Amino acid sequence: MIEKHLHELAGVIGARGSATLGEKRAADYAAGQLAQWGYQVAMQPFRALTTFSWLYITLYLWPLLGWFLGWWWFSLLGAVLFFLELNTVETISRFFPKGSSQNVIARHPEGNGSQVVLVAHLDSSKAGLNFSPKMVKNFRVSFLAMVGSMFVAPLLLLMASIYGGAWYYVALIPCLYLLTICATLLHREIWNFYTPGANDNASGVAAVLAVAERVKENLPSDIDLTVLLTGCEESGTYGMSRFLDAKGSEYRDAWFINLDNIGRGTVHYMAGEGMFPVHKSSPEILSACQAVAAARPDLAVRQGVYNLLSTDALPALRRGYQAISFLSLDDEGLLPNWHWPTDTVANVDVATVEKAVEFVSELLQTVSGSTKKKS
Ligand SMILES: [Zn+2]
Repeated sequence: MIEKHLHELAGVIGARGSATLGEKRAADYAAGQLAQWGYQVAMQPFRALTTFSWLYITLYLWPLLGWFLGWWWFSLLGAVLFFLELNTVETISRFFPKGSSQNVIARHPEGNGSQVVLVAHLDSSKAGLNFSPKMVKNFRVSFLAMVGSMFVAPLLLLMASIYGGAWYYVALIPCLYLLTICATLLHREIWNFYTPGANDNASGVAAVLAVAERVKENLPSDIDLTVLLTGCEESGTYGMSRFLDAKGSEYRDAWFINLDNIGRGTVHYMAGEGMFPVHKSSPEILSACQAVAAARPDLAVRQGVYNLLSTDALPALRRGYQAISFLSLDDEGLLPNWHWPTDTVANVDVATVEKAVEFVSELLQTVSGSTKKKS
């Protein structure tokens, strides 16, 4: 079945850009499967950004505008907005054009007791030059240089406004560095190439569907299972945010288990995630994962920390929900074929997806009794 889901999502449907028809078709496919297994399926339509590029181009141009205006505080405001948007607090992104997307929300008909939400995103990303095999190795370093520039720019501009002279030219350096980042983002938009997204994230969707099918008739008696397949993760984890806006109060004590890019390399459960800062995963789910990892050494699932980009677990963790993400990393700690045209079905290792399915199924058995549903 995993092969079938991968083939349907990344082969037949293929590119599934955020808020595109491809993403909608993937949602319909997954909803059809879940309904067939007896799940109570609902679509949650919402509107969200279709890409993060224009938002971040605006934010990265902000310090340069501050430099031209000579307003260090304006530059600082840009840095604050950047920090908030990066951590899923929507500020200026509210004013950007949006497209129509949807989440698939499916509840197990016999659910009762501890709430578990299995999460995977349906959309695939545009490729970008910074994900090319040569550049991607420096992804974290260039991200930190970018964060540094955003926060150093207002400081240098403040120095310039006090001391004048050469300080103005020094203050221009981080602004020009950020301008080069804008150029790569602009190229990403113009090139406009969505990947087939086999690993990212047909693998996660296939795994979630496989677990859902496995427990369709024998869900542990004290678990209330929800499957959440999100839209617009790649454009800024908006599907997850909209789900929490609408339904969060019903899931305050739930375990959110997010599967993303699990189709090649070594499967990891993440003790923390986020680009800046790193948010700690739920200690409760983490210790349950450690117990499963100890009981099932044959699966060779490891613990890690993920800080390359945000996942759907981030909006949940930031809002105080219990969440954890699973991702498979290669020997260099990267996601294989990440946001690149080589992210095809042929490059997914089904055995790796199966390990994740097995691990998460074991984890479901351990949830029993360790969380309590709000009454
Ligand atoms: Zn991705």
